[in-house]
Amino acid sequence: SYRLPRPDHRRVLTVANQKGGVGKTTSAVNLAAALAVHGLKTLVVDLDPQGNASTALNVEHRSGTPSVYEVLLGEVTLADAAAVSEQSPNLYCVPATIDLAGAEIELVSMASRETRLKEALTSEAIDQLGVDYVFIDCPPSLGLLTVNAMVAAQEVLIPIQCEYYALEGLGQLLSNIELVQQHLNRELTVSTILLTMYDGRTKLADQVTQEVRNHFGEVVLKTVIPRSVKVSEAPGYGQTILAYDPGSRGALSYLDAAREIAERGVKNGEKQ
Ligand code: ADP
Ligand code: MG
Repeated sequence: SYRLPRPDHRRVLTVANQKGGVGKTTSAVNLAAALAVHGLKTLVVDLDPQGNASTALNVEHRSGTPSVYEVLLGEVTLADAAAVSEQSPNLYCVPATIDLAGAEIELVSMASRETRLKEALTSEAIDQLGVDYVFIDCPPSLGLLTVNAMVAAQEVLIPIQCEYYALEGLGQLLSNIELVQQHLNRELTVSTILLTMYDGRTKLADQVTQEVRNHFGEVVLKTVIPRSVKVSEAPGYGQTILAYDPGSRGALSYLDAAREIAERGVKNGEKQ
């Protein structure tokens, strides 16, 4: 298997879409696992109190485990909260425990409430882990946790499900990103849109794909993730699709998407 280029700088991508069930977590863990397969060290930061990314990577996330919650409180460093996955020595996860459920409200009254993740995700912390890529898996809301993720990243990756109402709510997401750009993080770009759960048997999926490509152009990855039962089964076994069924269409599509992300770099990202 050929190796992907290492990025010339550490890339931090926030996987965001305030809609639930569009493939944020699935894409965050499988893209990270795909990059790890290609030899790149990757960290997934689970920023959703549901802890789905932690489950998918089979990383301990019982209440009390050092997690992203303690990181946000400044009690634990990012490197200390990071656990290596059993799937690959290249793949790390900072888990989310149920304690994170209160954070959205607790953060409101805290100093520097929007920049706490950024402060933890320093270049020293990233150096300590030696990772090339960080994916931050956001909850399905535009609250303070997602704002923290957008402030800590250079890039936003938006998964869009090839379904009815795919574009609904996207305007709100983009205007929130714009607000973060204006006030908190000038560096932020929407670098990547990934079409997920594509069902080639339906006309609708093609219509949505066309509409998204017409609207967003180059930012949309050429690779589309197919709807596949195996992709949805994998987390139940604490595995990514790359471990669960490496030869499946789902695994190959995430490998292709990861390669596109690695090869295009951040330079194609368009300022919204
Ligand atoms: P989000 O994090 O945006 O809420 P998830 O990644 O958890 O979305 O995906 C929502 C549901 O859809 C999950 O049950 C997941 O297993 C399933 N799913 C995600 N991607 C696919 C796919 N390509 N094919 C089939 N099921 C998928
Ligand atoms: Mg999720």
